[in-house]
Amino acid sequence: MSRYDVVVIGAGLAGLTTACQLAQNNQKVLVTATGIGALLLASGCIDVLGFQPADSMEPVKNPASKLDDFLAERPNHPYGLVGRANLEAGLNNFLKLVNQHGLDYKGDFNHNWLLPSAAGAVHPTCLAPASLAKGELSTGESMLIVGFSQMRDFYPTLISQNLNEQDLVKAEPCLIDVTIPRAGKVDVVPTEVGHAFERAEFRREVIKAVKSKSKGYQRIGFPAMLGLRQHREVVADLEKGLDKPVFEISALPPSIPGRRLYEALKEAFLQAGGKLILSGKIVAGTIEGGRVTQVQLETISRLKPIQVQHYVLATGGLFGGGLMAHQDGRVTEQVFGLPITAETNRHKWFNPHFVSPQGQPVFNYGVKVNERLNPVNGSAVPLAENLYAVGAILAESEWAHGRTGDGLAVATAAAVVKQITGNK
Ligand SMILES: Cc1cc2nc3c(=O)[nH]c(=O)nc-3n(C[C@H](O)[C@H](O)[C@H](O)COP(=O)(O)OP(=O)(O)OC[C@H]3O[C@@H](n4cnc5c(N)ncnc54)[C@H](O)[C@@H]3O)c2cc1C
Repeated sequence: MSRYDVVVIGAGLAGLTTACQLAQNNQKVLVTATGIGALLLASGCIDVLGFQPADSMEPVKNPASKLDDFLAERPNHPYGLVGRANLEAGLNNFLKLVNQHGLDYKGDFNHNWLLPSAAGAVHPTCLAPASLAKGELSTGESMLIVGFSQMRDFYPTLISQNLNEQDLVKAEPCLIDVTIPRAGKVDVVPTEVGHAFERAEFRREVIKAVKSKSKGYQRIGFPAMLGLRQHREVVADLEKGLDKPVFEISALPPSIPGRRLYEALKEAFLQAGGKLILSGKIVAGTIEGGRVTQVQLETISRLKPIQVQHYVLATGGLFGGGLMAHQDGRVTEQVFGLPITAETNRHKWFNPHFVSPQGQPVFNYGVKVNERLNPVNGSAVPLAENLYAVGAILAESEWAHGRTGDGLAVATAAAVVKQITGNK
């Protein structure tokens, strides 16, 4: 007999939010994952619907009110299967989950924050950590944007110029040269800056370098690296020292807000009694008589079979490792060998425009599911009643088209938790 009721394969946003809620509903849950997925690569915000139509230059202000238009344009997107109620429930569950575990996310389904991106563009997002939400552009409050001379990949001048040119806010760059502890003189990475901010003496140095330049600006933006575990203290201390609101702007990976989110979800999961195996690759799964009977976990010495009641596939598509694109044009699902509808002519995988608002066709390839999120075959027949697929592994879920990846992860988590726990 297994010690677990459910195995969740994957520890990205979809896998962890599903696993946390199942564990909090008294399910015995094992999460096993090769890594922590896109959390370290993305902004740490929850994007639900950012642009509609996808090529619109106008960001969506209210995702709830634009959902039907989005589904009219993309009728096969899995938002249509999970439905508005699960999307809203997923967002509420997410807020409750992370805000009970040390984070402070703000927002709701009827509103998008309009935040400055690392390129000085507008990032419309539904739920954001409070530190990023304070960068809201629609308030029009002027901002000083601080960067570090040793840091590549965060350019205050680029951000300010782009914000100014779009007439969004008055913004001014401020490049400072301070000693970042334990970092080299060039190529400082976000994690080093995040740790540096947790030292009071480093904050004093930053405050000294910024304070006189901040006169005349209503708020001060920093790269999103204001501490990892001590984030709240860091922000409070900087605001006290600078005597102004301080906010964070998303930077390039590794994402510190994404890391904080991962840590909070992990803590919530472990506190609820879950077990997490990182570097735990599931290499195969068996489907017999319409049910999954086991999956095989790769361990250092052997393949270990795991047999439970329910299996959640949260392996994240091509980016996450759940799908593999082969040179001969095949696209395969890596654990169960589930059917994937994909173009075998590789030249059709990509849009001629690299940065296309419609995204890339190849990222729409994935696992087709029914309303219960059970994978189905080409005739829409469910393949295994105790197997559920969530997040970016789903077919037609290309996130760049409309900016919907995070919303889909939390919505499918809510839907599967209902299925497994019977809480309708
Ligand atoms: C670079 C990048 C930027 C993004 N930016 C945005 C954005 O701006 N807005 C937006 O809405 N969405 C964005 N997304 C998409 C969004 O982050 C994802 O859709 C969302 O986080 C859901 O992720 P997921 O949990 O389904 O998959 P992932 O986060 O990819 O997680 C997959 C998990 O499965 C594990 N795994 C894979 N195969 C196996 C296996 N065989 N055995 C065990 N574990 C396995 C991986 O280790 C990982 O833990 C971005 C994604 C990427 C990659």
